[in-house]
Amino acid sequence: MTDTYRHKGLRRQLASVLAKKGIINTEILTAVETIPRHLFIPDNALHKYAYEDKPFPIGAGQTISQPYTVAFQTQLLDLKPREKVLEIGTGSGYQTAVLLEMGVKVFSIERQKALFDRTKQLLPTLGYKTNLFYGDGYKGLPTYAPFDKIIVTAGAPYIPEDLLKQLKVGGILVIPVNEGDSQRMKKIIKKSATNFETEDLSLFRFVPLLKEKGRD
Ligand code: SAH
Repeated sequence: MTDTYRHKGLRRQLASVLAKKGIINTEILTAVETIPRHLFIPDNALHKYAYEDKPFPIGAGQTISQPYTVAFQTQLLDLKPREKVLEIGTGSGYQTAVLLEMGVKVFSIERQKALFDRTKQLLPTLGYKTNLFYGDGYKGLPTYAPFDKIIVTAGAPYIPEDLLKQLKVGGILVIPVNEGDSQRMKKIIKKSATNFETEDLSLFRFVPLLKEKGRD
């Protein structure tokens, strides 16, 4: 579990790749330069590829999202310091760390027990204060609602009603929704309790947002 100057150099290169692909928010680029992504990938043999702009397996049939996808979704959230953010699909915790580097308060839900346990242990060792929950993301976290922003990091068959309810008026939900074999990224702004404005963005490929809670 070490971070080296070589890793730091590779992170700077990754940040410039993301900038060229259209990530203009400099705080996000700084987060990418800061966070040791290789430490979020459990298979040491993959560490040498950790700063390529690619997803990698993290166990339990899941993946750490591609850095461009993480940065793109984060940029769409239009974060302000100290906002309350709900993340669905903690996975490796990398997206969680990016959000925390942006100065917001994060609540994150994961349905795979093995990933939940590992990430709950990992994030504090890297200095991140976490609010992680083992449960079903479709239901959100009613106890801690409302949220300024909500980000879903798995491909959803539809937009869960509970998540729309748990968003503040003026808040933003960023969610990839199934369309054929891939997902259409959607940015949804809550204009009032009953009125939502949806912006359809480009297509991405995510692991599916699953209905039943895992039993591993
Ligand atoms: N943000 C993560 C992405 C991991 S992939 C990262 O960068 O590592 C998506 C994650 O969503 C997986 O870990 C998967 O187990 C989780 N997931 C799938 N369905 C879920 C659900 N209904 N509730 C919560 N998490 C879910």
